[in-house]
Amino acid sequence: MQLLDGKALSAKIETAVATEVKDLKNSTGLVPGLAVILVGQDPASAAYVNMKKKACDRVGFYSVTHEMPSDISQSAIENTITMMNNNPNIDGILIQLPLPAQIDTTKILELVEPSKDVDGFHPYNVGRLTTGLDGFVPCTPLGVMELLNEYNIDPKGKNCVVVGASNIVGKPMAALLLNANATVEVCHIFTDDLKRHTLCADMIFVGAGVINLIKEDMVKDGAIIIDIGINRAQNGKLVGDADFENVAKKCSFITPVPGGVGPMTIAMLLSNTLKAAKANAKIKEGK
Ligand code: NAD
Repeated sequence: MQLLDGKALSAKIETAVATEVKDLKNSTGLVPGLAVILVGQDPASAAYVNMKKKACDRVGFYSVTHEMPSDISQSAIENTITMMNNNPNIDGILIQLPLPAQIDTTKILELVEPSKDVDGFHPYNVGRLTTGLDGFVPCTPLGVMELLNEYNIDPKGKNCVVVGASNIVGKPMAALLLNANATVEVCHIFTDDLKRHTLCADMIFVGAGVINLIKEDMVKDGAIIIDIGINRAQNGKLVGDADFENVAKKCSFITPVPGGVGPMTIAMLLSNTLKAAKANAKIKEGK
């Protein structure tokens, strides 16, 4: 069994992004900018935003966080997004989800200018992903594909089972795998007999948010497990969705939690923001 080390790969990507940021600044004077909108006091959301801000600082991005109270109105968030859409110093806009119940999240995500949609949640970019066109791809599944690539794991022709079907994780993960010519099955909360599906899988991608959802007897020998779940166990430790200790023995490759997919998500946010900045720099230069 070999661990897929997302911590090491994300550090490598960060270094490459930082070098490109310096080059961009030297050649054009431009600095990539990321705006984050954080609504409410959820500690997990605040911690994620803080991690993203620190990563931006490390690679030399300009970043700004708009913190808003949980009783904020729809129009106030929309006004801030419009301002960011029109701000030439901002290349990427990230709305930290979930938003409070009174907010229409779909409307908010649709307002983000697609060329600044570094999370890849706008329907325009979702459409480009499903049709196999270049665009912005959600950071977590994109990070998974980078990790596979780093270890020369090619999903082409493999039976891939994705467990979890959210717009953020499962659906874009399935689209990327399909674009990579894998045979893809998507399972979710209403799937009858999950084990029947996972037992046939060469590769399992699990992002359900359920501790120990994938157990040893649900995995065939030599399978590859990509554990996207992040859960807080009763002892306070961060764990994934697979019963790591017992499942790992049967796997050829597995991602640890923490240190697997998590750091790749932030690395892909940096890489998507740099991509947006480079495209915007070309527009500003009239190329
Ligand atoms: P979500 O709640 O939006 O979606 C969960 C999905 O899992 C749903 O499609 C649901 O049907 C499915 N599911 C739930 N219980 C199931 C079960 N018992 N059997 C089969 N399917 C089941 O969550 P999300 O935002 O997609 O996040 C999923 C997990 O991934 C969470 O643990 C989250 O913390 C983690 N996550 C990690 C990263 C990262 O950077 N590694 C990023 C985003 C989310």
